Amino acid sequence: MPSDDALRHLLDWYAGAGADEAIGDAPRDRYADSARVRAPAAPATATAATATTDRAPAVPALVARSAVEQSARDLAGAARTIEELREAFAAFDGCALKQTATNFVFADGNPAAELMFVGEAPGAEEDRQGKPFVGPAGRLLDRMLAAIGLDRNQAYITNILVWRPPGNRNPTDAEIAACLPFIERHIALAAPSVLVPVGGTAAKTLLRRKEGVMKLRGRWFDYEGPGLAKPIPACAILHPAYLLRTPAHKRETWRDLIALKRRLADG
Ligand code: URA
Repeated sequence: MPSDDALRHLLDWYAGAGADEAIGDAPRDRYADSARVRAPAAPATATAATATTDRAPAVPALVARSAVEQSARDLAGAARTIEELREAFAAFDGCALKQTATNFVFADGNPAAELMFVGEAPGAEEDRQGKPFVGPAGRLLDRMLAAIGLDRNQAYITNILVWRPPGNRNPTDAEIAACLPFIERHIALAAPSVLVPVGGTAAKTLLRRKEGVMKLRGRWFDYEGPGLAKPIPACAILHPAYLLRTPAHKRETWRDLIALKRRLADG
């Protein structure tokens, strides 16, 4: 039996690597899970060379990124409804975050709403409940909506990523690229009147800009994604998680919310 000290160090090491949640009641053997993924059934037409081993050749650990992105585009593009998209995204295996997340977090609110908010990625509470923006940042987003007379029935809410990055680390470019065709399709199918990227990652990704959110927020852009009949007016806001840490910026966000409300009223 390892000493208490050794166990404490091991726990610190896990927390440092982002495994900061005890999610299941029973332990899960991840080594056995990945061995199953690496060893698909041997093809019926195995050649003499492959037949010399008793295991099928391993799937290459690094599937070419462009192949993953192409498969995401094909799957997302084939979805004709939001429900079909939800099923296709849930079945997509091209983003490794799926292995570590507890739940698939697709969307909340009203898909027919005029306003669509797109955040970055689920956090711990979202991962637990399988719904976007239900943790502390989500509660502030609800208050921001209420400030302009709206609630979740009058807004549609999703994220760029549908699986939580461990320890809430920033998403990698590869994770964003793998999921991008799905969020682009999601926006095309929901076809909101106004798109609101929430925070820097969503703003840069959807508006295809290099500047940070401080420079992008409060300005109107045309969001142009595949499958849209016409561009959608888009205005980024600061992320509520950031506002919780730096409440002094709530003032700018209040102005941005008023601008959103006015835009909706003007049609
Ligand atoms: N932050 C996000 O960007 N999205 C969520 O759903 C929760 C926190």
